[in-house]
Amino acid sequence: MTDNILLADLLLPNITKEPEYYENLYPARNLPEGARVTRIAPSPTGYLHLGTLFAALVNRITATSSGGVFYTRIEDTDKKREIKGGIEDIIDGLNRFSVEIDEGFFSGTNQKGEYGPYKQSERAEIYQTYVKKLIKEGLAYPCFCTAEELEEVRNIQESRKIRTGYHGEWAKHRNITYAEAKELIDQGKPFVIRLKSPGNEQNKIIFEDAVKGKIEMPENDEDFVLLKSDGIPTYHFAHAVDDHLMHTTHVLRGDEWISSVPKHIQLFKILGFKPPKYGHISPIMKLDGGAKRKISKRKDPEAAVHFFAEQGYMSECVIEYLMTIAASDFEDWRRANPDKSYKDFKFNLKKMSVSGALFDPVKLIDVSKNRVCRLSSTQMYSLVTDWAKEFDKEFYEILTRNPDYTKAVFAIDRDVPKPRKDIAKWNEVKEYFSYMFDELYSPDFTLPENISKEAAVAFLNEYKSVYSDTDDKQTWFNKIKEIAPKLQFASETKEYKANPEKYKGHAGDLSTVLRIAITGRRNTPDLCSIMQVLGKDRCIERIENAVRG
Ligand code: GLU
Repeated sequence: MTDNILLADLLLPNITKEPEYYENLYPARNLPEGARVTRIAPSPTGYLHLGTLFAALVNRITATSSGGVFYTRIEDTDKKREIKGGIEDIIDGLNRFSVEIDEGFFSGTNQKGEYGPYKQSERAEIYQTYVKKLIKEGLAYPCFCTAEELEEVRNIQESRKIRTGYHGEWAKHRNITYAEAKELIDQGKPFVIRLKSPGNEQNKIIFEDAVKGKIEMPENDEDFVLLKSDGIPTYHFAHAVDDHLMHTTHVLRGDEWISSVPKHIQLFKILGFKPPKYGHISPIMKLDGGAKRKISKRKDPEAAVHFFAEQGYMSECVIEYLMTIAASDFEDWRRANPDKSYKDFKFNLKKMSVSGALFDPVKLIDVSKNRVCRLSSTQMYSLVTDWAKEFDKEFYEILTRNPDYTKAVFAIDRDVPKPRKDIAKWNEVKEYFSYMFDELYSPDFTLPENISKEAAVAFLNEYKSVYSDTDDKQTWFNKIKEIAPKLQFASETKEYKANPEKYKGHAGDLSTVLRIAITGRRNTPDLCSIMQVLGKDRCIERIENAVRG
């Protein structure tokens, strides 16, 4: 037996399978020509980040547009940084935002699909099988350097102003023999397995990034770690093995990985795998004091996707908005296809921003208002109560006490051809309609400056005696107009404008007085509808209360 084979058996004695076993176990996918297989591969080291949701959406829509498959894979090789509930949060977040998962983890604990397991910590034997093959071929070797030794090497490199890292002559164990390795192992020394890089820093690799276009970088010559001392792979190695065996066609990931591409392409080549197409997604940016910067997990609440759920943004609005920043041609398509699902949009990676799309909260609000105004009162009821159940228990109790009443409230200026576009998210609803629920009602009876308290009281007393809750909008306003002249107010605004000195105000001002008495504020949706929903008794009571107040 050659040294390499002995070394491989010494280092990984429990690995008895050959890579062919896995190659047969995970045959090519049976998909139509051109179908793209994409994935999101989160590490459960934090909560679902906007950038991850964005990347998931880009991967999802790439698969959908081509009739392919989108799957999830949990990259949990860094056990020290893993947080409890991390997987649940990420997968639940994708589900909440309806980023449909075809395969892999579809809940915190459940996975499905023929190419699993979809969690890296359950795949140790697979990685080790491929590493063993590389050791046998002389393309990987054990390294026994301690952290101190590595640091010492780095210090020397820095002091001599040469490129740092474990490469070339600095790769101490690159040519270790079987006998030397055996001796160190017998002494109980821990080791990692490194790639014996055949690369040369002077050579260039060129690849076509699906998002960023042609990229040129030096070849990798670093003997980077493939397996850590606990037998768990590094990201680089797991990526190559997993994306090969799971038949990923497009690796669309954050552009922090772009500098690792030479390592990855090298690994695919050495392992005899066909490399996937890479596309590196630029981070979502935000404007901060006029300057563009990456959205930061530390500084920006909107970096955590949970923020949008908590605020009560409809998940489809967030997705719709993310689509507008994912594809520069999406908005034109949307204008031409207002009623289609975004899933019907033909997504092209070349239409993604190379420099990083700007997150514009005002635009998100606008997208949301346009969607929310088209909801029926029944849909609105179900969405708002679902949200309140999770995020505002007190409001939930109030909303569900009398569902028909709440739906009638939501129907105000809704279910009409030109609905009001006031509400963008559910955490605005409580304040927006607070006057419709007695326990939330806290009126401010301050009158506009041009209206005296006496005039307002006189009007309200008069109005109270003529109001009927069966009045339609026209009759309702006519009654106000009829009272106006008696109190020296013009019935018509134009009369008032022609001779303002003749009047105290106009009928519109009186309707403001009524609005203030009924709702405690100056701006509301249609007052006649509000009064009908409140009912006559409550309206009279509120008018009397305002007169006293
Ligand atoms: N686990 C890596 C991350 O969370 C995945 C990168 C990739 O998509 O390959 O950044």
